[in-house]
Amino acid sequence: MPLPEIVTPEYSTNLPSTGEEIFFRPFLVKEEKMLLMAQEGKDKKEITNAVVKVISNCVKTPLDIKQLPIVDVEWIFLQLRARSVSEVIQLNLRHTKEGCEHLNKIEIPIQDIKVNVPEGHSNILMINKDAGLGMKLKYPNLDITDKVDVTSAKSEELFELITLCIENIFDKENVYNDFTKQELDDFVGELPKEFLDNFMKFFTSMPKVSYDLEYECENCKEKVSHKLNGLMDFFL
Ligand SMILES: [Zn+2]
Repeated sequence: MPLPEIVTPEYSTNLPSTGEEIFFRPFLVKEEKMLLMAQEGKDKKEITNAVVKVISNCVKTPLDIKQLPIVDVEWIFLQLRARSVSEVIQLNLRHTKEGCEHLNKIEIPIQDIKVNVPEGHSNILMINKDAGLGMKLKYPNLDITDKVDVTSAKSEELFELITLCIENIFDKENVYNDFTKQELDDFVGELPKEFLDNFMKFFTSMPKVSYDLEYECENCKEKVSHKLNGLMDFFL
């Protein structure tokens, strides 16, 4: 006789980038196992792959996970975890101070983790204000970060990253979004060198899941505060 079907509850959350409501079910034992194995390996790529697999399994709304801005992926995963494992993340954080180095046990309520958008952040970069010439950038997704390491982008990789993240170019009359890779490479190559700073500012100030952590070291009683940013800070 076939075993009875197990019905799992359904929850919803809104994507930080668009506000779209999506539906998901909690992790099951098989997904929990997959995540624990990846987490033990401490390899970033493996963890990311496991996270993508778990999200694809659990989210019922049709989504191309690898095309979503990374902040959306991080957000979905935190909400999934809150509904599946615990509403609290437990971290062991070492107090890196000479003479202490105590391992503190910290608890972070997932509901207090928010998406932080730094003030003044914009995905529109103006090249020439008088001519109304500028570009609209999109946030790196996992397809892009698979190709380029955003955190340690060397000049060549930075160039690649920039061209992959340009959604369109516009001036007063037109929006240009039908260009070849070569045309785009040439266009970016013609930008003034100082313009690179604008790209860097865009990439370093992208919205992230973040939490302002403040705690007192159990051992030396010193008050410690720092910001946790991105999924890896919460899971490694
Ligand atoms: Zn300490």
